[in-house]
Amino acid sequence: MRLYNSETRNIEEFKTVKPNEVSMYTCGPTVYHFAHIGNLRTYIMEDVLEKALKYVGYNVKRVMNITDVGHLASDGDTGEDKMLAGAVRENKSVMEIAAQYTDAFKQDCQKLNIAWPKVVIPATSCIDEYIKIISELLDKGFAYKSNGNIYFDSSKLDNYFRFGNQKQNKMVVGAREDVEEDKGKKHQNDFVLWFTKSKFENHALKWDSPWGVGYPGWHIECSGISYKYLGEYLDIHCGGVDNKFPHHTNEIAQTEAFVGHKWCGHWFHSEHLNTTTGKMSKSKGGFLTLSKLEEMGYSPMVYRLFCLQSHYRKQLVFSEEGLDSAKSAYEKLIKRISNLKPEGKEVDMSIFENFKNKFKSALEKDLNTSLALTQVFDVLKSEVNEDTKIALIKDFDKVLGLNLELAWEQETKQTSVDAEFEKYILELIEKRKTAKLNKDFKTADEIRNELSSKGVELIDTKEGTTFKIKD
Ligand code: AMP
Ligand code: ZN
Repeated sequence: MRLYNSETRNIEEFKTVKPNEVSMYTCGPTVYHFAHIGNLRTYIMEDVLEKALKYVGYNVKRVMNITDVGHLASDGDTGEDKMLAGAVRENKSVMEIAAQYTDAFKQDCQKLNIAWPKVVIPATSCIDEYIKIISELLDKGFAYKSNGNIYFDSSKLDNYFRFGNQKQNKMVVGAREDVEEDKGKKHQNDFVLWFTKSKFENHALKWDSPWGVGYPGWHIECSGISYKYLGEYLDIHCGGVDNKFPHHTNEIAQTEAFVGHKWCGHWFHSEHLNTTTGKMSKSKGGFLTLSKLEEMGYSPMVYRLFCLQSHYRKQLVFSEEGLDSAKSAYEKLIKRISNLKPEGKEVDMSIFENFKNKFKSALEKDLNTSLALTQVFDVLKSEVNEDTKIALIKDFDKVLGLNLELAWEQETKQTSVDAEFEKYILELIEKRKTAKLNKDFKTADEIRNELSSKGVELIDTKEGTTFKIKD
């Protein structure tokens, strides 16, 4: 598997510490609002990555956090906690907000066939872990106490910035107008590990610590959870590109200072979904959710296909035209697949392996999902028997997750509904015939009206009564 590594800025062979085992960490949602379809793009691509790694033969252990404390309004250490803002907005407690939006996120994942990781940990459940790490960072001289808060001392590292090209200085606290300068810091890039003194005395989530009652900074949660559940070496860490700085940069700083060696071998960042006017973001409001898309007539599978059609490292601009074309592509695909009928023949193993290798090799080329999708069409076009085509499509869908194997069920369901409806119409036509023979014209008219209200028009001919479905 060759994958782009944001740290080295190269496409490289993906290597793991243990053979065939992948430890994978994905930054989870901040549950103060619904996930928007941009967030969901990132989770879809991470899901495909996990499934692709399994497809090529790895065991994957994936851990994800749920941010229910500490993510402040700015990406630095200032502004209100997003969870508190959500609680105030909806007049609920922080924990109610967290439960409500974690649940909503889970439902979105289900609809989009995003596998729920085996280990999903709310940030508030690992406070002891953060305290342990922060204490050690203080002991080792990587952290200091100032103004009541505990800060990470970025000057202790030679290579604090890891993801190169980003315009770091724009994001550095104090260098951007909307990010306030924190007088407690020794250096611009230092960041808070633990708050005891903040201007938000009303912070609802507080815990005892050796430094006083307070709450953790945002970045420490991912270091703590990853360390606790995946150990001191991590194979791959994922997130959206906005997480590169400061979040992932700070995660690396504190984790490597704590474990004393290089921590994560590979960084996978998914590009953003943008609107025509810029990045889709929860804080800007007016964002699109999956439910909204459904109301607009786009099924979750259509959105999944829309995402898979483009590469995860390319920005994707959301437009209704784009979704319309994904919708028509999806419908055509399902129709073509449902037309495949098993012929009772053996799967042609040499053709099966040949297609499978092409599909695998598309995934191994830096997760080229659009190239992988073309294999589905190539299979449909090919001359091989239908049983082999069906087997291949089912196999590919383990990674694509587009409910392709349901195409047959959807089609059968459709025809069985139609057959039932037809049976019902024919029964009523028979009843009407009997009523007319008995000169019960009232019942005969009632039957005609009942069918008419269901969109069925009766046509009386010399040979008997037929029907047509009204336009
Ligand atoms: P959040 O809930 O804000 O913590 O973000 C959850 C995930 O969505 C993170 O991995 C972000 O990097 C990612 N993300 C945020 N905005 C977008 C966007 N417009 N497009 C794609 N991913 C995004
Ligand atoms: Zn994170």
